[in-house]
Parts: sequence; structure tokens; C-alpha cells
Amino acid sequence: MIKMICKVLLNKDCATVTNSIHKSSYSSSSALIPGSKDILPGVSKSGPFGVGFLIYQRKAIMPLHKQKINILEIKGNSLDDGPGIRTLIFFKGCPLSCVWCHNPESKSFQTQISFDPKVCIYCNDCINICKENALSRDNPFFIDRNLCTLCFQCVEDCPSEALTSVGKQLDIDDIILEIEKDMPFFQTSNGGVTFSGGEPTFQMDALSALAKTCKEKGINTLLETCGLFKWEDFQNKILPYMNIIYYDIKIMNTKAHEKYCGVDNQLILNNFEKLVSAISNTDVKLLPRTPLVPNITATTENIKAIANYVKKLNIPHLQLMEYNPLWLEKNFKIGVTNPYVQSKEMSQWMKQEDVKKFLSYV
Ligand code: SF4
Ligand code: SF4
Repeated sequence: MIKMICKVLLNKDCATVTNSIHKSSYSSSSALIPGSKDILPGVSKSGPFGVGFLIYQRKAIMPLHKQKINILEIKGNSLDDGPGIRTLIFFKGCPLSCVWCHNPESKSFQTQISFDPKVCIYCNDCINICKENALSRDNPFFIDRNLCTLCFQCVEDCPSEALTSVGKQLDIDDIILEIEKDMPFFQTSNGGVTFSGGEPTFQMDALSALAKTCKEKGINTLLETCGLFKWEDFQNKILPYMNIIYYDIKIMNTKAHEKYCGVDNQLILNNFEKLVSAISNTDVKLLPRTPLVPNITATTENIKAIANYVKKLNIPHLQLMEYNPLWLEKNFKIGVTNPYVQSKEMSQWMKQEDVKKFLSYV
């Protein structure tokens, strides 16, 4: 009987549902987010209604602006990611796994733990407090992530911030408050908000609510996307609230895309073509972009193929993003290894003459 009632409530306005079934949990309920194992405060899995009830209940009572978004960080006053002065929202979680990812700490949806040996003062407080024995100087990464349960006790105790947590959950209202602090800068510089990541569309509903609120407040919105999403959802939930879209096309060869990014590029290219068509009579601006990664994306064959592809779709610009090797250190801090870090070209900045060569193909 209870399951049936909750199913019906799912179709109602969220606030109405909240008031009618679980008033006490309104302000502190957990987020309905991909991969979340959270449950409502005060309701246990072994409670009277079982897990099935919990699922219906969580969907029913979450007011949209209280939904949590997993983010890496919010960065104000940026001049790099779009026109004017912008506030950057870095979402956490990405469906791709590019081997060169420049924000590797945003790949995982979960909050992670980071260790920076350069600021460690060797007090060993963390080693002593860890109940799982996950920390050891014998481990080149210091943290055994198979043993670590992410209790973050060591982070709390670390006096030098050598250990830090990476990522946090904020609700949409909190993020809007942060964005609004920069409103005067947006107005004087024609700036706005940039949704970056990770992949913002990985948290589609939350992104939609956030972008819609920005639009209602007259804030310019820019999305940086890898293009791997369900088109219908994107078209209905995201596109109406975006002014500018930066769209990554990394590798044209499907097999190479799968090898270096973890998935093939068919859906990404299909979505790009649908997007070109969908915005043809609108004011939405679209900029395809390609990161230059030595011997992977930065090959004559690949850059020429991408340039030809966008030209055929009558897109006048393709932006090439210069390679930088800073991601290698970020990878180390969160305990990620991959075979490509051994390559000499990957460990240094790209030469300007090489950048110019690739630019000449565009
Ligand atoms: S987060 Fe907890 S389990 Fe993981 S290393 Fe730190 S203290 Fe140990
Ligand atoms: S608590 Fe922090 S500073 Fe002390 S040994 Fe651990 S990581 Fe280093």
C-alpha cells in the first residue's frame, strides 16, 4: 500500500509531496544522485518499509534546489573559460576516461583523498590514526586505496594539509549564492557562469536546475562538454538554458577514441551533428575544441580530420587547446597511474612550433 501511494506522489509537485509525507526531512534529506548510496536521516535500510520504500521516498521528497551536486570546486574571477569574467563550476564525474585528463581529480563522481608529499611535515599523525593501516611510507603513493575506507579522519588530523579531500556536495541554492557574489563582474565584463568538469551533463537534472536558475537571473551560461549524453535529455533539459557550448572532439578515429578515451566516438559525433542542426536558427554559440595531446590527438592526420569534419558542418572555428603536463602530478596525488606517463613528450610542455603547425591545419 505504501509503495503505491509513493508512486502516485512521484507525479506531484515536489514541495507538495514533501509537505504531505515527510516534513521533518525537508531541509536535510540526501541527494538523488547517480551512484549515491545515501539514505534519508532517521530512516534505516532495515526500517519498517524496507529498501523499496526508501527508493520511492527519496525520489518523492527531494526539492530540486536542495538536490546535491557533486563538485570539485567553484572558482571565481576566471578569465580563461569563456568571454568576460566568469565563475567556473567544476562538476565531478565523467563517463569518459581519457588517459591524459587534465582534471583527473574530477573524473570520479565520489569524493576522493589526495596526498601532496611536498607539504608533508612527516609528523606521522595520519599513520597513527588510520584504523585500516592504509598509510605507509613504503608505498610510493603513501595511501593504499584498496584498504582506505574514505573515513577522512587522516585529513582532519593532518596539520599541513598534505592530505586533503577532493570534492564536495553542495545544493543548488548554495552554488547560486556563490555565483551571485560575482554578478557585478559579470555585468561589467559580459561574463557569466561556466559549467566544466568532469562532465557537467553526467549530473543532468541538477545541471538543468542550476542552468535554468542562472538563465532566470539573466546570467550568461557556458557549458564545456565531452558530448557523451542522451540527446533527448540534453535537448530538453540543458539546451534551453545555455548561451554558449564548448564541445570537445578529441579523436576522429573510432578505434583510437575507444583506446584512449574508454568509449568510441559514435554517440559524441551524432550528438554534435544534432546540436549543430538544433541551434542553427538560435543565438546559441558553439565552439568545437580539441586538446593537443602528443602522439594521441596531436597528429597531423587527426587534426586535419577534425578540421575537415567541422568545416563540412559549416562550423567556422575549431579551437586547439595547448597541452600541459600538470595533470601528471595531479594523477600522482590521487594515486592514479597509467602507461602514458612514461612518454617523454607527455612529461613536458608542447613546443610552440608544434602548436603553430597544428594551428595551420585548422
Ligand atoms: S581516509 Fe581513513 S581509511 Fe583512508 S587513509 Fe585516511 S584514515 Fe585511513
Ligand atoms: S598528518 Fe599530514 S603532515 Fe603529518 S605525516 Fe600525515 S600527511 Fe604528513
